[in-house]
Amino acid sequence: MAQLLAEKRDFDFVMWEQFNNEKFLENEKYEAFNKKTCDMILTEARKIAIKEMLPTMAEGDKVGLKFEDGVVTTPECFKPVFDLLKEGEWGNLGVPEVMGGQGAPSFVASAVSEYFMAGRSALSSYVSMGSGAAAMIQLYGTEEQKKKYVKRMVSAEWGGTMLLTEPNAGSDVGALETSAVKNPDGTYSITGNKIFITCGEHDLCSNIIHPVLARIEGAPAGTKGISIFIVPKYFVNDDGSLGDRNDIWCTGIEHKHGIVASATCSMAMGAKGTCIGYLLGNENEGMKIMFNMMNGARMHTGLQGLAYASGAYQLALNYARERVQMRELGQPHDAPPVTIIKHPDVRRNLLWMKSYVNGMRSFYQYMDYQEELSKIADTEEERALADGIFELLTPIIKSYLANRGYEVCVQAVQVFGGAGYTKDYLAEQYMRDCKIASIYEGTCGIQAMDLLGRKMGMQGGKVFMTFLAAIQNTIDEAKGLTELADLGERTQKMLNKLGEVAAHLGKNAMSPQYKTAFAHSLPYLDVMGDTIMAWMNLWRAVTATQKLAAKPKGKDLPFYEGQIKTAEFFIRTVVPTSMGRMDTILDMCSAAIDISDEAFGGL
Ligand SMILES: Cc1cc2nc3c(=O)[nH]c(=O)nc-3n(C[C@H](O)[C@H](O)[C@H](O)COP(=O)(O)OP(=O)(O)OC[C@H]3O[C@@H](n4cnc5c(N)ncnc54)[C@H](O)[C@@H]3O)c2cc1C
Repeated sequence: MAQLLAEKRDFDFVMWEQFNNEKFLENEKYEAFNKKTCDMILTEARKIAIKEMLPTMAEGDKVGLKFEDGVVTTPECFKPVFDLLKEGEWGNLGVPEVMGGQGAPSFVASAVSEYFMAGRSALSSYVSMGSGAAAMIQLYGTEEQKKKYVKRMVSAEWGGTMLLTEPNAGSDVGALETSAVKNPDGTYSITGNKIFITCGEHDLCSNIIHPVLARIEGAPAGTKGISIFIVPKYFVNDDGSLGDRNDIWCTGIEHKHGIVASATCSMAMGAKGTCIGYLLGNENEGMKIMFNMMNGARMHTGLQGLAYASGAYQLALNYARERVQMRELGQPHDAPPVTIIKHPDVRRNLLWMKSYVNGMRSFYQYMDYQEELSKIADTEEERALADGIFELLTPIIKSYLANRGYEVCVQAVQVFGGAGYTKDYLAEQYMRDCKIASIYEGTCGIQAMDLLGRKMGMQGGKVFMTFLAAIQNTIDEAKGLTELADLGERTQKMLNKLGEVAAHLGKNAMSPQYKTAFAHSLPYLDVMGDTIMAWMNLWRAVTATQKLAAKPKGKDLPFYEGQIKTAEFFIRTVVPTSMGRMDTILDMCSAAIDISDEAFGGL
């Protein structure tokens, strides 16, 4: 039977066979969870995503949002689904119990999020933004702030946002102009305008709690002088009831290329009267605190790339199995036409997509694995190293999954031919919705600078070396298996070369050629991502080869064989092009830096 969204079998494989996550469930922290409950959660989430969410995807895109007198109305079809998710407490699955969540392990929560994002990309942000903002309040808020806001944000009764961007402060957050003046009662009066604020205003929640970045009068310029404030849409009384309206208003919404029904709002504070904000944490610590939410949001953005790619791949695969066109290559002229999945170029394209979707899902689950380790590994050193690996790879999970996810969506549209260019199928919507992932939460270019400028040298390079050693382990396992020895050797060459490129680029980044080095930072992030894809596909193949030794029957047989063929495809056809890209980095062409502004032309 044709599948919609990711096959649950693949999650089972990654969670229980590739990563052996069962060991985490032995920790007392996860007393309420075992493999069976995790299975049930995932099966139910998939059912909701397919039966309840997916049917609203095209309609939400077509109807879009209505903006009138500061009020944003979401598509009618969103409301029952939002209520279903709220009542089922799906938004708080992975949130710690102390915050009112269910405390599920991150590998289960992210698998559920992948389903919900692929089921309805624009709707899922309304559900998840509250939890992200609440986590910051939980970490840095006073007892009173925690009591007032956290549980109701986590339960999706109230929404959440993050207000950083301003017309003159996009990538350069430190340039923000929103100001805060301390009042005698300890609150702050906030004045300023923010743009592009996701879920800044909508009708799905009774209140919205806005974390706002602003500069207190007299604070230093740049990021050092930024503080963060809790600005509720409605004030909250001591008994938890809603009070007066605060002076924070939506002044307009963007008309966008994708995620059409996700409200992207311009917000004005203090324009009509007084906008009151409550300091979160200490003065001038705003960036440090906000990074907490932004790191989670970066993971989430990477997950968008994976979820849309996975949804689009599955649609393309179904179409390729149904669409009949032309006879099979090498058959006589009067041979009957066949489904397009029989044509070599379509097969190549499908396997190319599958290799990325598989690699990206395993990579995401690897991040979840590190997150679990960072919380419950036995020693402090192990926990710190897991945390370090998570941090090192955060810019890659964000950027690489966003960009490759988009490319997978583009290729899915291609499989549909002309039909893919119409709105009759969801592939083009996945493609449009996916583009934003490379732009928000820090563009890909900014992530690449973070990787090269800050992350590579973490703990004196120890984190990066540990990461390389983890890849080496899988390669050694593959070399020990006759069937995979050649793929192991090829991946070894790639890994060796990545080490060489990293050393070369790191050295140049600290030399007078630093600008040229940074011109190669995104290609470098990409080859690191390619190496991770090769690693994850090889790891899948190693696991599958071990399982095949037990002579599995039924659907397991093609499933495991599929892992090996997918790894072979990626390592023999994509890895060589990535090795070529590594050569270009080693060559350190400086033309992009040397060319004069005028010589770009167009003046
Ligand atoms: C749909 C949507 C939702 C959003 N949601 C939110 C939200 O909820 N909250 C919020 O605060 N913001 C939000 N944003 C804003 C988003 O984070 C910014 O658009 C993004 O950070 C880029 O800023 P910018 O648009 O000003 O681009 P710019 O900063 O002007 O960048 C333009 C280009 O220049 C490049 N660039 C800039 N500086 C450098 C540099 N130093 N080195 C290399 N390249 C550079 C960038 O990579 C980019 O390609 C959202 C945006 C959109 C479109």
